[in-house]
Amino acid sequence: MYVRGVGPRVAEMLAPKGILTAEDLLYHLPFRYEDRQNPRSLDELKAGEVASVIAEVRGSILLRTRKAPIFELTVGQGRRALKCIWFNGTYLNGKFHAGQTVAVYGRVEASRSSSNLKMIQPQFELLPDATADAETRLLEVGRITPVYESLGGARLASRWQRKVIFHLLEGLRGAVPECLPQELLARLDLPDRETALREVHFPPESTSFAQLQSAATPAHRRLIFEELFFLELGLDLKRRRMRERAGIAFATTDKVREAIREVLPFHPTQAQKRALGEIVADMRQPSPMRRLLQGDVGSGKTIVALQAMLVAMENGYQAALMAPTEILATQHFLAARKLLERSSRRYRIVLLTGSLDEDRKRHARGLINRGEAQLVIGTHALIEEKVEFDRLGLVVVDEQHRFGVMQRFKLMKKPRPDGTEGAEPDVLVMTATPIPRTLALSLYGDLDLSVLDELPPGRAPIVTRRVVGERADEVWGFVRKQVALGRQAYIVYPIIEGTKDDQPELDFSHDDTETGMETPAARPRKTVRKAKTAELFPMAAFAPFPSRTSAPRTKTAEPLKSAVEMHEKLRAGPLAGLRVGLLHGRLDAGEKEIVMRRFQRGEIDVLVATTVIEVGVDVPNATVMVVEHAERFGLAQLHQLRGRVGRGSARSYCVLATGPRVSPLGEERLNAMVRTQDGFELAELDLSMRGPGEFFGTRQAGLPDFRVADLLRDRQLLELAKTEAARFANDSRSPNGNAAEGTAAERAHVWARLKDAWQRRYGLVEAG
Ligand code: ADP
Ligand code: MG
Repeated sequence: MYVRGVGPRVAEMLAPKGILTAEDLLYHLPFRYEDRQNPRSLDELKAGEVASVIAEVRGSILLRTRKAPIFELTVGQGRRALKCIWFNGTYLNGKFHAGQTVAVYGRVEASRSSSNLKMIQPQFELLPDATADAETRLLEVGRITPVYESLGGARLASRWQRKVIFHLLEGLRGAVPECLPQELLARLDLPDRETALREVHFPPESTSFAQLQSAATPAHRRLIFEELFFLELGLDLKRRRMRERAGIAFATTDKVREAIREVLPFHPTQAQKRALGEIVADMRQPSPMRRLLQGDVGSGKTIVALQAMLVAMENGYQAALMAPTEILATQHFLAARKLLERSSRRYRIVLLTGSLDEDRKRHARGLINRGEAQLVIGTHALIEEKVEFDRLGLVVVDEQHRFGVMQRFKLMKKPRPDGTEGAEPDVLVMTATPIPRTLALSLYGDLDLSVLDELPPGRAPIVTRRVVGERADEVWGFVRKQVALGRQAYIVYPIIEGTKDDQPELDFSHDDTETGMETPAARPRKTVRKAKTAELFPMAAFAPFPSRTSAPRTKTAEPLKSAVEMHEKLRAGPLAGLRVGLLHGRLDAGEKEIVMRRFQRGEIDVLVATTVIEVGVDVPNATVMVVEHAERFGLAQLHQLRGRVGRGSARSYCVLATGPRVSPLGEERLNAMVRTQDGFELAELDLSMRGPGEFFGTRQAGLPDFRVADLLRDRQLLELAKTEAARFANDSRSPNGNAAEGTAAERAHVWARLKDAWQRRYGLVEAG
């Protein structure tokens, strides 16, 4: 389809922005609006508010100061004036002429030198004057005007987009295909697609401005619902398909129960019982289990997983546990071995991690391959090292946020040595990332969810304190006291050695690129880009949305203390006489194992470490966690680190040591840590501070980028979309199709669009 204003040149500029079709352009929504119907009067402006103002240009001047040239623009209404200031504003020189009308948008500030107000670096737009063509005036003056993020410099800024989208909508009048059933829209009181698109770009006069700014108009809600509906429908479909696949129906006989009873070291909590019940119910089904076990740090996920693995093993299958780091894999290995020693049965447990030497790896592979190893614990190496399971029945993935979605599937799909496919193993994914419940339910719609919402009994709250680095001596004194009481401590640094900021150091954080694994985001882009020029703007095609990039970390001038350096210093100075160990990701597997084991046995008093101990490490006798440069760690990380202590009944302490300067966001994080220990509360805060993309790590969580929806803002619509998608899927599949909502043609249209949207845009569904 030909779009006025979009030739091959412009199309080329748009492609990198993910705008490949006319539809993409229509779904590039304004990020704010200016109410040019009821412009603000300068008289009513107050310092501190963010406002848009239409005023007349009075004059401008470029001031050359020692630091940077400053461009000053004075605009006014009657006697009142507003000063606009741009640093490095040379490029604006000569742009404004007295008498022009300009719209400026920014934060209003009081001026020091006069009673006038000012704006620093406002956004601005010169409004068309009487000589401009009627269309330009129509789109930009005397109405609620959309403001867009530029799609390419000044050229493809708001003005360009208004025109192109205006013409696009004119050309499509009455011809924008609806993609949801009318009945559904009517029931939810949402406008049709064309109306929604039109009104979201060019809101009618009567639209509530407040609703517009918060994306809450019916038009916005309709488009957001549409996007989330297709996401949820896709997840629903995926889950249904999974249920149709051939899995293993495990039996839970008395023999199995007895095997579990033999090794259980304590009474499970109610939450653990419930979760295990849900897991086992899944395992008994003949379709493969796909379940997420979510529980805050220390809630006791490991033992639940171990029980599930025993069910698999007692049924004559192999179970595999995949951990995100070697340290964690090693710890799980040691813990599982210790537990299973209590059993009268002889289980063979094998550890397989990347840094084992070739001989040990080969030996492990052989045991796994021949089915002699019943329980296999490892890292990512389980995927990498050509491991072929003889009879894999259950895969447990620990601390899921460290794994790409695809990795799970890769492991499951290991072919049998004899070349046949075999039944698919069950998969249990565990995560301590306290994903807010509504989001977890909706986003992992293809997984079932079990939650451990209860901590094992007898846990005392952890005392959390902030200290400034200067008070280090007190901290070391405190550590010594705790050690004297027979306790152990962690001291964590952001880096291993030197001054380079190389955290977080996972054992395989680079693997995604090395194995050429496809990430959900990368896949559709490739296919769509190949479109020939003639098809660049097909109306119906979906295209991926460019991913949000994270802001670069701000570097402080203060040099960072490193684990290696501080290990030396502490041993020689403040902690002399104590047994101080060192643990970081660059040690080889054997060394890590030795250090971990010694710490576990209490042969090391103080463990100086990096974030390698962030996830999962479990030494209940450790009661002190000192985090240096705490301001540099993310909230989720701090919460995980703190979760390393407070695992026994003794009172535990978390000391967050910072440098003298902490950014406002850093302050907020640290204060939140002191205020609460509730993982869900911290997750909510983290999510709101970082945004969903960063929070989940879009790539890792396999989350799509949204075009119009915002997972934080639109949670209620997400719930609604989930309910409606399930209802739609049920209706469509019921034998009595006539009772379903919408016509058969409408339903067929929804499914067709889902296929298109899901496969090309999200890339989450395997072909077929
Ligand atoms: P996480 O959920 O963070 O992985 P773990 O599985 O490591 O937590 O368990 C945390 C600690 O709590 C471990 O030391 C574990 O042995 C202990 N634990 C787990 N469940 C119980 C229980 N029901 N009663 C007592 N202690 C428990
Ligand atoms: Mg754990």
